Amino acid sequence: MKLKNKDECTGCGLCSNVCPAECIKMERDSEGFYYPFVNQKICVVCGRCEKYCYNTVTNPPKEVHVYAAYNKDLIRRLKASSGGIFELLSREVLSRQGVVFGVKMDGLEAIHTYVETLEDLDLLLGSKYMQSDVGRSYQQVKEFLQEGRWVLFSGTPCQVDALLKFLGEKPECLLTVDFICHGISSPKVFEKYIDENVELNGNPTQICFRDKTEGWNDFSMAMITEKGQYYRKNMHEDVYLQSFLKNMNLRRSCFNCVFRTVARVSDLTLGDFWGCENIWKDWMENKGYSLIFVQNEKGKKFWNSIQNGIISREVDLEKVLAYNQSMLISPWDKYSRDLFFKMIRKETIADSIKKVEKNDMFKKIKRKWWKICRKND
Ligand SMILES: Cc1cc2nc3c(=O)[nH]c(=O)nc-3n(C[C@H](O)[C@H](O)[C@H](O)COP(=O)(O)OP(=O)(O)OC[C@H]3O[C@@H](n4cnc5c(N)ncnc54)[C@H](O)[C@@H]3O)c2cc1C
Repeated sequence: MKLKNKDECTGCGLCSNVCPAECIKMERDSEGFYYPFVNQKICVVCGRCEKYCYNTVTNPPKEVHVYAAYNKDLIRRLKASSGGIFELLSREVLSRQGVVFGVKMDGLEAIHTYVETLEDLDLLLGSKYMQSDVGRSYQQVKEFLQEGRWVLFSGTPCQVDALLKFLGEKPECLLTVDFICHGISSPKVFEKYIDENVELNGNPTQICFRDKTEGWNDFSMAMITEKGQYYRKNMHEDVYLQSFLKNMNLRRSCFNCVFRTVARVSDLTLGDFWGCENIWKDWMENKGYSLIFVQNEKGKKFWNSIQNGIISREVDLEKVLAYNQSMLISPWDKYSRDLFFKMIRKETIADSIKKVEKNDMFKKIKRKWWKICRKND
C-alpha cells in the first residue's frame, strides 16, 4: 500500500474507514499526530485505501452567502467558542430524531463521537484545540443514514471532505458543518503540557480551550481537576495556547492545506467573526460572534430553520476575510514548527517556544544584515 506522503496526509482516517480487511489503524507518530499504520500481514492488497486517498479535492459550489450571527441564549453562547451557532443547528437535527457527530474530550484526548439527546450535546460544544481521533465515525454516519435518520456531521474541512468521499454522494438527510481552521495541534504536546504544568493539582476532568471569562477576544484555557481545583490562564500566558496560536504545535499538512477556500464541500462553514467591532460599532459585546458561510441550498434551509434562535446580519465577504486569514492562507513557517518539535524532545514547552522565537529573531537580524551588506556592495 502506498498512501500520500507524510507532509500531505491530514490524518482524516478515510483509508482506515474504507479498508475492508480493517488492517489500517490510525496511530500516533513520534510527534503525536494520527497517521495510518498498516498491518501488512492481513492486508488483502485491494487498493481501496490508495484509490480514496488520491481522490482529488471535491468540487465546491460557486456562490457562497456570508452572515454574522450569535445565539440569543447567552448561556449557550458563552459555552460555545464563537457565537454558539453549532448548538442551534444540532438542536434542529436532534428535533428530527437525528444524530449529531462532533468532538468531545475523553480524558486528555479529543475524539469524534455522536450524541442523540440534548443532555449529551453539551459534550460537543466548544473547540478542542488538538487533532481528533475520527475512529469509525464515517462508517457510523453511513449506518445511521441507512436507517433513514438525519445526521449532522461536524469536523475539520479535511474530515468533512473525507466523509463525503467515503459516502461517495451527498445523501439528502446529511448536514455537514466544517469551520475556518487555523490548523490542528498534536495530542502529545497537550499531554506534555498537562504533565509539565506545575500549577495543576491532579489530572483535569473538564477542559475548556476557549473560556470566555475575560471575553471572547481574550480567551483562556480553563480546567477543573479531579481534586476539584479550578485552573484558568489567559491565552497570552498559557503555553499550550501560545504554541497553538504561534503555529508551532501544528500538523505538517496544515502548512499546505488544500481546503483553505471560501467555497467548501460542506453545507455550512462556521468561524469566528474576528474584527466585527471594526465593521459594526454596535457589535462590541465580547461574548462571541460567529461567521456563517452558507454553501448551498441545504445549508440555506438549515440556516433559515435557526433564525428564531439568533440575531443575524448579512456581511460583506471581503471585509470579513481581512480579519480571518485562516480561511485562505496556510501558515508558512514550517522551519520554526519543526524546530519546536525537535526542542520539546528535551525541553519544556515554555523553553522550546522561547528558544524557537530567539532563533527566529536571530534569523531576522541576519537577513537584515545581509540585505544591508548587499546594498553597500
Ligand atoms: C482546531 C480548530 C481550529 C479553528 N481555527 C479557527 C480559525 O482560525 N478561525 C476561525 O474563525 N475559527 C476557527 N475555528 C472554529 C471556531 O473555533 C468554532 O469552532 C466555530 O466557529 C464554531 O463555533 P460555535 O460557537 O458555533 O460552536 P462550538 O460549540 O464552539 O463548536 C463546536 C464544534 O466544533 C467541533 N470541534 C471542536 N473541536 C474539534 C476538533 N478538534 N476537530 C474537529 N472538530 C472539532 C465540534 O465537533 C463541534 O461541532 C477552529 C476550530 C477548531 C476546532
